[in-house]
Amino acid sequence: MITVTTRTFKSPASYVQGRGVLDDLGAHAAALGETALVVGDDVVLDIVGDRATESLGANDVEATTETFRGEASTAEIDRLVEVLRERDADVVVGAGGGKALDAAKAVREATGTAMVSMPTVASTDAPTSSLSVIYTEAGEFEEYWFYEEHPDLVLVDTEVVAGAPTRLFRSGVADALATWFEADATYRSGGRNVFGDRPTRAARSIAKLAYTTLREHAVSAVRAVEANAVTESVEAVTEANTLLSGLGFESGGLAAAHSVHNGLTQLEETHGATHGEKVNVGTLSQLVLEGRDDAFVSEIVEFSLAVGLPVTLADIGLEDPTDEQLDAVAEAACDPDETIHNEPFEVTPAAVRDAICAADELGRAAKARDGR
Ligand SMILES: [Zn+2]
Repeated sequence: MITVTTRTFKSPASYVQGRGVLDDLGAHAAALGETALVVGDDVVLDIVGDRATESLGANDVEATTETFRGEASTAEIDRLVEVLRERDADVVVGAGGGKALDAAKAVREATGTAMVSMPTVASTDAPTSSLSVIYTEAGEFEEYWFYEEHPDLVLVDTEVVAGAPTRLFRSGVADALATWFEADATYRSGGRNVFGDRPTRAARSIAKLAYTTLREHAVSAVRAVEANAVTESVEAVTEANTLLSGLGFESGGLAAAHSVHNGLTQLEETHGATHGEKVNVGTLSQLVLEGRDDAFVSEIVEFSLAVGLPVTLADIGLEDPTDEQLDAVAEAACDPDETIHNEPFEVTPAAVRDAICAADELGRAAKARDGR
């Protein structure tokens, strides 16, 4: 029986990161099976498809590719399961952004194969986790699927990551920046991590390391990625966005920042903003909700601006939100199933709405002061 005193830490079996490691995929995956199916959308397969199948083939893993049609929906997952069975594959390699990886995780769950997570962007902390976000065919959030198994291997080629759009890399910084504040809140409140257990000290330390790594390296890493350059800072921030944030959120726990994000997705106007961009507004809201001191909140606002992340509601598409819209966001963020209740105090929709508004004011003031 699991009790609330149980502490759990789970992770993928291996994590490999570096410039050019795409060409080592086969060497790392050879232990996992004999026949691989590489799943990615057209753009991703153009970039990594040939190198992935050649590397697998060179290591005696027969490999074919299949185009991911863009949505991690039940219909697309069912289709990919059929393709995998037809080709008799015992390894599924998900390549691309969060959705392709989430689809590959679901295919693995349905078929019992091995699974490789091969992110081509460092835009979220999804690649290392054991859950998928499932969408409708129309692209609306449907539900989370949780799995017992983590990916067997996470392989991140930093040259590929640095060549992807900088906006996605920045978004990954935002998703990783939230990790420490959320894991810390969960730890302090005695809350639960994604597995429904108490967080370990290890998970808390990993979340903190994500934060210090970003504070030390994110500005320079973003500049490097603008030039498609791989530097030590890019390596550090890719690890923070992918491994440290992934382990940190899943084993450490989420809190207000991601609940505010989930609330914001209720509004059509925010759909043009990435996951990380909305999470950043959530992070600033969480700091205000927690009553952090002026100097610290303004430090995080300034850091966000230096990285090029949103600090106001207008920055994520909400130019002039109505009271009804803000109430809807706050209500959704406070749903009983939301992680916001990992905060170490009682959270109400009124307090959340006011924190979002106050954070927005602080962000606007900072931008106005600098003429941004
Ligand atoms: Zn996230």
